[in-house]
Amino acid sequence: EKWVYSFAEGNANMKPLLGGKGANLAEMTRVGLPVPQGFTITTEACRAFFKSGKRMMQELKPQLLHALERLEAAKGQKFGDGSNPLLVSVRSGSVTSMPGMMDTILNLGLNDNTVAGLAKLTRNERFAYDCYRRLIQMFGNVVFGIEAIHFEQLLLRLKHSLGVKQDQEVAAEGWRQLIDDYKLCVKRHAGRDFPQDAHEQLELAVEAVFKSWNNQRAQIYRKINRIPDSQGTAVNVQSMVFGNMGDDCGTGVVFTRNPSTGENALFGEYLVNAQGEDVVAGVRTPQPIDRLKSDMPDIYDQLARVCKQLEHHYKDMQDIEFTVERGKLYVLQTRNGKRTAQAALKIAVDLVAEGVTDKYEALQKIEVSHLDQLLHRGLDESKVTEVLAVGLPASPGAAIGVAVFDADTAAEWKKAGKRVILVRPETTPEDIHGVLAAEGVLTSRGGMTSHAAVVARGMGKPCVCGCESIRIDPQNKHMLADGITIAEGDWITLDGVTGRVIRGAIPLQEAKVTDELVRMLQWADEVRTLRVYANADNPEDARTARAFGAEGIGLCRTEHMFFAPSRLAVMQKMIMADSPEERKKALDQLLPMQQADFEGIFEAMDGLPVTIRLLDPPLHEFLPQLDELQHKLQQADSDAERQQWKHMIRKVQSLHEFNPMLGHRGCRLGIVYPEIYDMQIEAIFKAAVACMDRGIAVLPEIMIPLVGDASELKMLRELVDQVADQVLGADHRRDCKYKVGTMIEVPRAALTADRIAAHADFFSFGTNDLTQMTFGYSRDDAEGKFLSHYLDKKLLPHNPFQVLDAEGVGQLIELAVQKGRSLKPALKTGICGEHGGDKDSIAFCHQTGLDYVSCSPFRIPTARIAAAQAAI
Ligand code: ADP
Ligand code: MG
Ligand code: MG
Repeated sequence: EKWVYSFAEGNANMKPLLGGKGANLAEMTRVGLPVPQGFTITTEACRAFFKSGKRMMQELKPQLLHALERLEAAKGQKFGDGSNPLLVSVRSGSVTSMPGMMDTILNLGLNDNTVAGLAKLTRNERFAYDCYRRLIQMFGNVVFGIEAIHFEQLLLRLKHSLGVKQDQEVAAEGWRQLIDDYKLCVKRHAGRDFPQDAHEQLELAVEAVFKSWNNQRAQIYRKINRIPDSQGTAVNVQSMVFGNMGDDCGTGVVFTRNPSTGENALFGEYLVNAQGEDVVAGVRTPQPIDRLKSDMPDIYDQLARVCKQLEHHYKDMQDIEFTVERGKLYVLQTRNGKRTAQAALKIAVDLVAEGVTDKYEALQKIEVSHLDQLLHRGLDESKVTEVLAVGLPASPGAAIGVAVFDADTAAEWKKAGKRVILVRPETTPEDIHGVLAAEGVLTSRGGMTSHAAVVARGMGKPCVCGCESIRIDPQNKHMLADGITIAEGDWITLDGVTGRVIRGAIPLQEAKVTDELVRMLQWADEVRTLRVYANADNPEDARTARAFGAEGIGLCRTEHMFFAPSRLAVMQKMIMADSPEERKKALDQLLPMQQADFEGIFEAMDGLPVTIRLLDPPLHEFLPQLDELQHKLQQADSDAERQQWKHMIRKVQSLHEFNPMLGHRGCRLGIVYPEIYDMQIEAIFKAAVACMDRGIAVLPEIMIPLVGDASELKMLRELVDQVADQVLGADHRRDCKYKVGTMIEVPRAALTADRIAAHADFFSFGTNDLTQMTFGYSRDDAEGKFLSHYLDKKLLPHNPFQVLDAEGVGQLIELAVQKGRSLKPALKTGICGEHGGDKDSIAFCHQTGLDYVSCSPFRIPTARIAAAQAAI
């Protein structure tokens, strides 16, 4: 089996095998860009490595050696050779980009002997020993798991003793001293010497990079981004180029467009006389890329050309790593750059306008989960008073929370329900669980391309970094800004658009729909076949939904109309009624209220279908809790009042059920108390008549919940038709093309869908209940009790209440669609659960041939794009 490919053998399409970094290094080599030579060990090798118990496979060794020999021949150098040593980096590279989550080691091949050779060869002692000390630190950290802090402390001590501040001020002699300290440090913590044998170094490094696939932060990152654990990482072995040989050298990261705003201008940072990790690790705050124009104009022009070329080649904004060695430019990595939602839209629309790509590709590139961010945030500027500091606007959006100064506390407090802002001098990839828990991230050091910034942007979280005027003291859990101390637990607000750090909790404002979003949504509408409806229970939500492009209402929950305080009292009277007459009286009072709501909704949706679900929840939900009533009873100060509370207590007791979600609810209510449904149906049709008389086109679709047997629907459909006949005169009857349908949310309904279809004009899959009943998980309890353990232990890939379980629940949906359509080919079908706004679930709906998805108003733009993506 071939486990090793030289860069000259691969190409961009080999990502699954070579990883993203490896495939792109090969692709860039292929098109003639200046890439240092090297080779890639495949992801298959990584999987084999884990299968053989995390041991280097015997068959890999000769392949590795052979590739190394070819590299030596090409470079005219020898690995481990004292006079002309080959040095390499060993770089992780997964299939799906996971910035900074895994490990890389530079300067491999250096030892006490080769370092002297390198010094002689380059006539630069300082440089050679600088490389060596970096190797020992990275190797110690990655291979032996020695925490970076131990090395950093030694470095600090050295600089202190030399009386210097910056690394660049340390001379060769200083580095030599540090190397001795580092070696002792390795010996003490790892219990063995730093390996002097170059081949041993390489083998250990490759193993360590394989293993880094399973380090904690990589696992968390995969979980958030739904990256399969089985992918594995490739390992790239690449000959070194050096940005730390002097002032005609440097290293940097450049985005071909601005990843925050999408503006078409190079964006990035670099450091003169530095090695790769220095920029991304955020230890020194780098220079903006524009400065390169004056520092090294030729290099800048060359870099700009490379950027254009790569952008055209990959048809997308690129995130590029480069190094300049003695006035020569090298490209070390390219990938599609992470970006904010706003930038993503602007870049996509611009690239279509520039003719680089087309609308289909543009749509596919939209990360729909980020649209949420775009459709909400924004500070209410009138409330911004105390700006504490301004840092780099690394990831836009506003974040409000209490300051915490370490990742563990961030995670804990978030679990306890608090909103937190993670504040760190700089974040390292070890902090990822804190970033995940935080509303936003603030750092005092590190640039726009530091890991904190990249990871925050990737998660769509606001981030302000490099805020150097703030003194952050993580030990004592506070920070000092503009003379003000902010302690752990104090409220702050971050504005990732301007980089402002603001004291207190600043209220947010709704975001506007930008031109780019409008354009993208137009394209989405041209491409998609799935319709997008909204869940809306009142006229205002209906208007919002329509403004966001809803093509109808897929779920109007009538019970929400009863929860307003003035109505709840009447509703309670209705439930408490002892006789049908009494109940009728209360219902008569409720009718005009419901009618008014429906009129408002019909008006807002003029000409579009409105799906109204008849009463669904168990009646006890409208009555107070038992202990609350008991308390009221004790407080009562008249006999009459006491009687009243006792009466209610008896009612609540009589309504008590052991499994209310499997109890007297949905159509079961309509069957036992037909007068309730009767009133609701009457209100719907009266509202329809009133609206039609005002010239509004009304398309009511009456939906019966929780049907499990065709007979239930048959009986209630007759009720609907009967009330319709009474309320709609012959004229209105003609113009009011109402539908009657059912929710499919009980597994038995899915199984008998052909019989149910006989009485239904449409099916709407209530995937919340359907998931609950198919899994047998109470959706109100599962998450807190056991579901999170299931997810942690990977017994389930996702929370099935968030991402539709295509494997199980999905079968029921497919079956029901197929059975329903076998009887009525034109049967309308859709879903109305929480899943209606989730992109994977939307893709499933598209594949299953549903007619529509219904989701909350703010998710409609997301759903329109996801539906288009599913159709491409
Ligand atoms: P990450 O995925 O964390 O970015 P990389 O493998 O890309 O890790 O490497 C980290 C840093 O080291 C980058 O800045 C990269 O450009 C630099 N680097 C990697 N290999 C080499 C090399 N052969 N020569 C010079 N710099 C390198
Ligand atoms: Mg990189
Ligand atoms: Mg339901």
